[in-house]
Amino acid sequence: MKAVTIQAPNEAALCDIEDTGVSAGQVKLRVMRVGLCGSDLNTYRGYNPLVSYPRIPGHEIGGEVIAVGDGVTRCRIGDRVVVLPCTECGECSACRSGRPNACRYNQTLGVQRQGGMCETLVVPAHKTLVCNELGFDELALVEPLAVGMHAARRAQINVGETVAVFGCGVIGLGAMAGAAAMGARVVAIDIDARKHDIAMACGAARFVNSQQEDLAALAQSIDGGRGPAVVIEAVGNDATFVEAVKLAAFAARVVYVGYAKKPVSYDSSQFVMKELDIRGSRNATAADFSAVLTLLEQGRYPTQQIVSAHYPLALAPQAFVDWAADPGAFTKILIDIQ
Ligand SMILES: [Zn+2]
Ligand SMILES: [Zn+2]
Repeated sequence: MKAVTIQAPNEAALCDIEDTGVSAGQVKLRVMRVGLCGSDLNTYRGYNPLVSYPRIPGHEIGGEVIAVGDGVTRCRIGDRVVVLPCTECGECSACRSGRPNACRYNQTLGVQRQGGMCETLVVPAHKTLVCNELGFDELALVEPLAVGMHAARRAQINVGETVAVFGCGVIGLGAMAGAAAMGARVVAIDIDARKHDIAMACGAARFVNSQQEDLAALAQSIDGGRGPAVVIEAVGNDATFVEAVKLAAFAARVVYVGYAKKPVSYDSSQFVMKELDIRGSRNATAADFSAVLTLLEQGRYPTQQIVSAHYPLALAPQAFVDWAADPGAFTKILIDIQ
């Protein structure tokens, strides 16, 4: 069967790989859609330290069940499913405290293991969630939206609080929609004015172009000058890591879901003076996936606006070239495998 392989940095190609059957407890999917993630782009560019080559990318997967192994009761042939792409060891401190999304020995499809950008994929049945109400485009969006949902949940948002979110990529948008669904007033912050409409469609009450608006003035304009009770950083830039702490109200929660590419230097007195709760957010739990599926069924995400482009499988290598050339031009690229 056909698969997309990143052979080495800046070299993506279509190749043939062996088709495999199902064992007990596994299901085989016909992969229908795969979303391109920023981490796939980093793999393509050679910036992902967790990846070795050659690697089949892809962990944002919507598919249809075409075979089930012995003992599988979770899904049936013909079901539409989304794939939970991470493993967990069950023994590390994160796993033992009920947070397998942060497993120390986590392996993610398309990162440490071969991913889903291929015609069929065999996965453990317990790593699938059935949702026959949604289309495959929507199913391929569930994973990144769930990562955003997890960031919103890490913030423990109360109804009526103001939540500022840095970054209008799919994860930031997922955090906005999650926070809005939890009853927050969401302020979206981005350097690109083109993100205004999609942020508002994801539940933001206000869009701030940080190239034009001063963030100190923004803090002054929120909650009678107190600033936002929650700040979520979904960019992964050292400057926004620092801005998040500056913007946050006293006694606020700051959640980091972006990966900073280099060390960040802080005036750490802010942490103490404001008594901030500073939290990381990694991947997503099955509960986050389920929450996103529910909101998708309610039509709470502007999925058509989120998907910027479709590429057929044969042109997937070109999708990497195009995205790498202009990362800001796309919110989400979907590869139509079938
Ligand atoms: Zn991803
Ligand atoms: Zn673990």
